[in-house]
Amino acid sequence: MKKIIFVTGGVCSSLGKGITASSIGSLLEARGLTVRMIKIDPYLNVDAGTMNPYQHGEVYVTDDGAETDLDLGNYARFTNAPNSRANSVTTGQVYREVINKEREGRFLGKTVQVVPHITDEIKARIVAVGKDPDVDFTIVEIGGTVGDMESVPFLEAARQLIHEYGRQDAASVHVTLVPEVSGGELKTKPTQHSVKELQEVGIQPDVLVCRSGAGLDESLRRKLAAFTNVEYEGVISARDAATIYSIPLVFHEQGLDQFLLRKMNVESRHADLKAWKEVVRKLTEPKGRIRIGVIGKYMDLHDAYKSVWEALSHGGIANDAGVEIVRLDSSRFEADGADAGALLDGIDGMLVPGGFGQRGINGMVAAARWARENGMPYFGLCLGMQIMAIEWARTKLGWADADSAEFNPDAGHAVVSLLEDQVDVKNFGGTMRLGCNDTFFKEGSKPALAYGAVKVSERHRHRYEFSNAWRADFEKSGMVIAGFTPDGELVESLEWPSHPWGVGVQYHPEFKSKPLAPHPLFAAFIKASIAYGEKRARG
Ligand code: GLN
Repeated sequence: MKKIIFVTGGVCSSLGKGITASSIGSLLEARGLTVRMIKIDPYLNVDAGTMNPYQHGEVYVTDDGAETDLDLGNYARFTNAPNSRANSVTTGQVYREVINKEREGRFLGKTVQVVPHITDEIKARIVAVGKDPDVDFTIVEIGGTVGDMESVPFLEAARQLIHEYGRQDAASVHVTLVPEVSGGELKTKPTQHSVKELQEVGIQPDVLVCRSGAGLDESLRRKLAAFTNVEYEGVISARDAATIYSIPLVFHEQGLDQFLLRKMNVESRHADLKAWKEVVRKLTEPKGRIRIGVIGKYMDLHDAYKSVWEALSHGGIANDAGVEIVRLDSSRFEADGADAGALLDGIDGMLVPGGFGQRGINGMVAAARWARENGMPYFGLCLGMQIMAIEWARTKLGWADADSAEFNPDAGHAVVSLLEDQVDVKNFGGTMRLGCNDTFFKEGSKPALAYGAVKVSERHRHRYEFSNAWRADFEKSGMVIAGFTPDGELVESLEWPSHPWGVGVQYHPEFKSKPLAPHPLFAAFIKASIAYGEKRARG
């Protein structure tokens, strides 16, 4: 690793440290530089696998099966930096490692302490991610807010690394809020205090990314520079933007990348931002517009399906269409007298995302049935594919007791069930199929056509599988087993026969979609939805 950039946050949480880190990464890549990204989460959980989506938002999964913070998804959407287990560091991991070493006697009887043992472990993890000789920059986002008790060891590790690398090879970017008080005046005091807090732990920021609704004028930028020891060019006004994908452009217009590179003495080509401009154009002034209904749980919590929302908008980018997402809680489809057709009025395509637990399942089944019988494009992700199996078994095979063993372990027809070697394993968190796996598709199937390939690798996060006990009944009754694992054992994709586009996949394609490279299945689903909408408009 040649250079390192730390991104911290002050004043309050949710100011967009992740988007800031990702946007800096994308600007450096646009200049032909190679970056690596790291997220540090100061919580004690070892990973995000056991965390409630209500509290924590989506669990993002990497190729090697790590269950991480959703910010890794932002890194993956904005940059080409590879993500694995090593890119997500938590307090829990660091302490576990140090305590394990202590138990193994590897500290030779020394007193084991936060400084230097915990901080050394943190530093080693950061340096390891950027060790490849062609990596130019490692960008480290430190979660939480400066001043939190939990982040102290991480800030100390950052301070030490900045000192060891030297000011030319290390930089600090601090993201803060400049709030507006009644009367419309913008207040810099919270930012000044937050910088002071950072300085107290020995870190002088080089860049301030100041969030505010309308943006800072020159005099406010000068005032902040004067009070925080940051150069004027380093004070960036990050006004609210129409889309997160315009943030790299907003930063570039204000010279953030130029400033960082000059400060760190890096020569690079000019930033090529044509592709990003085109993405922003398609998102803000698309040629067409469509409405996608997403039927699931956790619908009132925006971040629980972060990658799904983003992948849908990327599918729109691929078709130059603005995607309006209509979130429909699946319980609405199972209420007494629910009319699926009425609930879906004005919708062009249906997506059922992943999920766990029984609540709302019958509503998803009812919605899927409507989509199948009425030719509405349907895209099932993980649980959404299992719903296709249950619906088909109940309606087409006439098995009223068909279910997933997850929801009814005693179901007569458990068409989705645990594998034999999984049964009786009670160790929660240990039995999931996690990470990437190859899938083979039938030649000519809708997914094969969308990918333009019959073999793909995608990421999994689930416990239950389509049950092979009734595979033949499904096939005989017409359901297309479109994809399977290389050994042919596990069903990876289902496709409705004689339907414009009804596809379910057992994996999570949303994790791999990028605005500059929309996922082929999302692109194909949106394309089919546009066609459905046009047909509907013609009557
Ligand atoms: N609950 C289902 C399973 O464990 C689906 C999981 C998911 O959608 N991620 O198999």
